Amino acid sequence: MVILGSTGSIGASCLDVIASLEDRFEAFGLSAHTSAEALYEQVQRWQPRYAVLTDPRAARNFAEQRLPSRTCFLQGVEGIGRMVADADADIVVTAIVGAAGLTGTWLALEAGKTVAVANKETLVMAGSLVMELAASRGARVLPVDSEHSAIFQALQAGQPGEVQRVVLTASGGPFRGRKRHELSDVTPEEALCHPTWRMGPKITIDSATLMNKALEVIEARWLFGLLPEQIEVILHPESIVHSFVEFTDGSVLAQLSPPDMRLPIQYALTYPKRVAGPAKRLNWSELEALHFEAPDRETFPALDLGYEVARRGGTCGAVLNAANEAAVARFLTGRLAFLDIPRACRAILDHHHYSARPTLSELGVLDRWARQEVERWTSNSSPGRTK
Ligand code: MG
Repeated sequence: MVILGSTGSIGASCLDVIASLEDRFEAFGLSAHTSAEALYEQVQRWQPRYAVLTDPRAARNFAEQRLPSRTCFLQGVEGIGRMVADADADIVVTAIVGAAGLTGTWLALEAGKTVAVANKETLVMAGSLVMELAASRGARVLPVDSEHSAIFQALQAGQPGEVQRVVLTASGGPFRGRKRHELSDVTPEEALCHPTWRMGPKITIDSATLMNKALEVIEARWLFGLLPEQIEVILHPESIVHSFVEFTDGSVLAQLSPPDMRLPIQYALTYPKRVAGPAKRLNWSELEALHFEAPDRETFPALDLGYEVARRGGTCGAVLNAANEAAVARFLTGRLAFLDIPRACRAILDHHHYSARPTLSELGVLDRWARQEVERWTSNSSPGRTK
């Protein structure tokens, strides 16, 4: 197994799964961007064939001679390309956060590998191109996102034409139940306090704005070939039901488990089999009730952006994704108000040059453009705009 982004939160969970299934899986390749020290520790423990650092400066400073003799150290995107294309690599887990994950996913699919996609931004940016590439190479794309894994698991009960709709569950994040005017001056610290999941900072902020669910609507649209009107979102604060699939006969199937990413990761790795693993078990005696409620779309306008982008497709996903990444980065460093994250995305989506069938390189250009636009939009916006 190759893990792209092995030092992040999903990467660590992935290695946890391998640790408990060492008779089945081997960490064949590990990659990080700048976290050289963490990568070094993982390499010592897992003795992979490849270790890659993608950031040129981190790679230059990486003490190559300290690595085990069986580990080949590579750098940059070229290094990722060589590692994922190795004939001995079977599964590639793409756990890099953000748009940076697209290249690795693309290279792995080009090499015909099974890809377990934990990087939803790849499908948001270029879902139609990615799924077309996978089909043309006979490569399998398996979901790792907990909601999409739940849908994928429930889908095993029927045929593709028998799906009426899917319902994605959302915890609602730390601000569930609050009104818009109560969110104008929330701090990054407050937004980073997720009630049920422990994740990296970018996705935690996305959960607080509900942008994460917006991105997941788009992800589901491409991953399962659904129409946007077949996808619904419901808040479920306990994060026990990870999503529902409703079939044409009216039967609804759900997947339930405690919030623990090791389970969806493991299912992607052992699919279509199931084996005992490290994930936490449901304790029914501790489970008092499961709650469901409609999302507040006025307070959390990001959700509507997700539906709009899922409908329009083309260049919209890349623009929304890049604008959101840039806006979240600014929010985390105190340079943008919380409510301005979806507002900036809205503004930039509205004035981008839309095309229905962009190429991958056009999406790359738009990705950079949208990030610059967030900078411009922020410096033009007056403080009063956040109210
Ligand atoms: Mg998710």
